[in-house]
Amino acid sequence: MATELLFRADAYLQTATARVTAAGDGRIELDRTIFYSTGGGQPGDTGVLVRSGGERLRIIDTRKGDAPGAVLHVAEPGAALPAAGEAVELEIDWPRRHALMRLHTALHVISCVVVAPVTGGQIAPDKARLDFDIDMALLDAAHIERELNAISARGLATETVWITDAELDERPELVKTMSVQPPRGAGRIRLLRIPGVDLQPCGGTHVRNTAEIGTLRVVRIRNEGRRNKRVEIAFGA
Ligand SMILES: [Zn+2]
Repeated sequence: MATELLFRADAYLQTATARVTAAGDGRIELDRTIFYSTGGGQPGDTGVLVRSGGERLRIIDTRKGDAPGAVLHVAEPGAALPAAGEAVELEIDWPRRHALMRLHTALHVISCVVVAPVTGGQIAPDKARLDFDIDMALLDAAHIERELNAISARGLATETVWITDAELDERPELVKTMSVQPPRGAGRIRLLRIPGVDLQPCGGTHVRNTAEIGTLRVVRIRNEGRRNKRVEIAFGA
């Protein structure tokens, strides 16, 4: 059963109420959720599901289910699961998610600072990386760090834009990531716009304003293969 993704409209929701639609094998499905499920290089959310009796059930991961649109909230091992129909309150681990949102938005900026096809990416709560198909000699850590922090400091308001499949077909230049093609067939595609910097398909969670990214460091640039030159970033001046 498809779960309504509340973070698509508001990535800043830290709590919400929902109803259990299915539970078993340590997985809980809900009619709606604020938990992001692993995808697009962003890890799934963690947090707590508060049951109707007040018991707090820890959610240690969030993944996509087999059915289209299904989201599986992974309970801590051995926990008693709620029954279908039970009303629950959701709380995400906000400091962790906010860090992921800051780094995720930073990767959008870096994909524009480095002008080359993106071949991969991964985000963790304390660091993130983006891989490019580019000559190593063209990757300058100091330059990337300076440009990234300068764009963040401009305080640009980010926007979510929805377009149709047909509109995307007319603008193939929007698809910068080679490893992640935008999902088609649903009729609409979600884009993130950083005005004057970036516009690309993305279903992840982002900060409202680039100023929220804060100051980041380029901690490493590494050759990970012929078409994978990796730029790794972390928090801190
Ligand atoms: Zn994104």
